[in-house]
Amino acid sequence: MSRIIKSIALDEQTAKIADTLPNFSHFVRECLYRHAISNTLECSREKTWRGTDRCNPLMQPVCFNCWPNGSPPVEAVKQWSQDKLAMSFLDDRAKSHNEYLIDLTGINRKAQKTRKSAVKVGFFASIRQKIRDRSP
Ligand SMILES: [Zn+2]
Repeated sequence: MSRIIKSIALDEQTAKIADTLPNFSHFVRECLYRHAISNTLECSREKTWRGTDRCNPLMQPVCFNCWPNGSPPVEAVKQWSQDKLAMSFLDDRAKSHNEYLIDLTGINRKAQKTRKSAVKVGFFASIRQKIRDRSP
């Protein structure tokens, strides 16, 4: 993946938040993907992966439309396939595998169906609330 350098302006409060993130660029990229999916883009890949209604979770960049918790680990996909497990197994394994990702539940399309309150407060207000909730 080629890298394009962008500079942004933060205020004191958001600069402090940025300092707490292990990889700020990764955070911004993830937010942009999620924002694009929740506002304009649908999954453009074939949503027929292994007989499911989702796209391949191992393709990069991860599709947060089909995989709101990010990609599950490869070994979880193998186990899911061999043991014919439920999709919730992959979602749970993806969540624990990607726990470094900020929890943006309520931001993406799939989560909006179950958590209306987060949608009403807006994208950035919701992120700020999530960060406040994580603070000690
Ligand atoms: Zn997809």
